[in-house]
Amino acid sequence: EFACEQAVCPMPMQAMGGDRPLLMSNISSLSEAITAQSCGADGIGLFRTEFLFMGRDSFPEEEEQFETYRAIVSSFGPGSPIIIRTMDVGGDKPLALLMLEDEDNPFLGNRGMRISLMRQDLLRTQLRAALRASAYGNIKLLFPMIATMGEWKQATAIVEEVKTELSRSGTAFNHHIETGIMIEVPSAAIMADRLAQEADFFSIGTNDLIQYTMAASRNSPSLRELHDPLQPAVLRLIHRVIRAAHDRNKKVSICGEMAGETAAVPLLLGMGLDAFSVSNEALSSVSRQLSLQSERWDKEYLRQSALEVMDLDHASDVRRYVEHRFPELF
Ligand code: PEP
Ligand code: MG
Repeated sequence: EFACEQAVCPMPMQAMGGDRPLLMSNISSLSEAITAQSCGADGIGLFRTEFLFMGRDSFPEEEEQFETYRAIVSSFGPGSPIIIRTMDVGGDKPLALLMLEDEDNPFLGNRGMRISLMRQDLLRTQLRAALRASAYGNIKLLFPMIATMGEWKQATAIVEEVKTELSRSGTAFNHHIETGIMIEVPSAAIMADRLAQEADFFSIGTNDLIQYTMAASRNSPSLRELHDPLQPAVLRLIHRVIRAAHDRNKKVSICGEMAGETAAVPLLLGMGLDAFSVSNEALSSVSRQLSLQSERWDKEYLRQSALEVMDLDHASDVRRYVEHRFPELF
C-alpha cells in the first residue's frame, strides 16, 4: 500500500484571496485514511464504503461499520470533513452477496443509490452507523448515482427516519449533519440548480459523469479520447454545476480522477471549485499545482482562462490552450 515519503507541504493560506480550495483524499479503508492524514490531506472527500461490503460472506453489521467510521474520524481532527458515501455497488463493482440478476448493461442498470433504495435494510444500517460516528467529528453523508429529485427526497426522508429513531433511543449523533449529492449522472447535472436548493453540498464524480455524458466507458483504453475531462462538453457541464451550486451558496468538490489531472486543475480553479479530492498517490502533485496558483496565477487570470475554454471545440484545443497559458505546469 502507498505510504507518503514526506508530508505534503501545507498550501499557502493567502491563495484565492484568503481562502483556498481544500485538498482531500479518496479512500476505501481505514488504513488509507491514516495514510491520508499523515500525508497532510484536509480530510476525506470520498470514502468508498462499498469496499466494506466486498469479498465477504455476510453484510457488515452496524457495530462493525460504526467502529470503522469512528476510527476514520478519529484519525483526523474533529473539524476535518469526512465524507461517507453510502454503498455504491453495481456497474464496475458487482456484489455477489446481493444475489441480483445479471444485467446486459450493468452500468445502466442497478447501481449505487438505486440498490440502496431497493435494499433499505442495508441503507438504514449503514446510516445508523454513520450517524452514530458523527458524534465524534465532522462526518457528512453523500449519496451516489442520484439521477432524480425523487431519489434524493427518498434518501433524505430515510435519513430523517433514522435520526428520529436514534433520538428516541437517546443515541448521540450530529443533528446538523450535512447531506450531499454525487453529481455523476447527466440528469443530475442538468437539474443542478434545483438539487442545489435541497442538498448541503455537491461532489462531482467525473469518472461516471464523463462516461455517461460522452457515452464512452470509463474502462475502455480505446475510447480514452472521448472519456477525456478536457472535452468541451464535459467542461461546460461542470462549469454549470459549479455555478448552480454557488448561486445557492453551496460548496462543490470533485472526487473523480479529473481532480488530479494536471491540465484540468487550473481550469477547475478558474471555475471556483471548492475542493479537490484525489487518491493518496496524487496528493503531493495536486498540492504542488494548487500552491502554484497562489504564487503565479491570480484569480482573474484563472477565471478568464476557464471562460475562454468554454468557446473551444476540441479537447485537443483545450489542452493546447492550457499548455500555453500555464507552461509552468508542464
Ligand atoms: C466517480 O464516478 O467519479 C467517482 C468518484 O465514483 P466511483 O469512481 O467510485 O464510481
Ligand atoms: Mg461513480
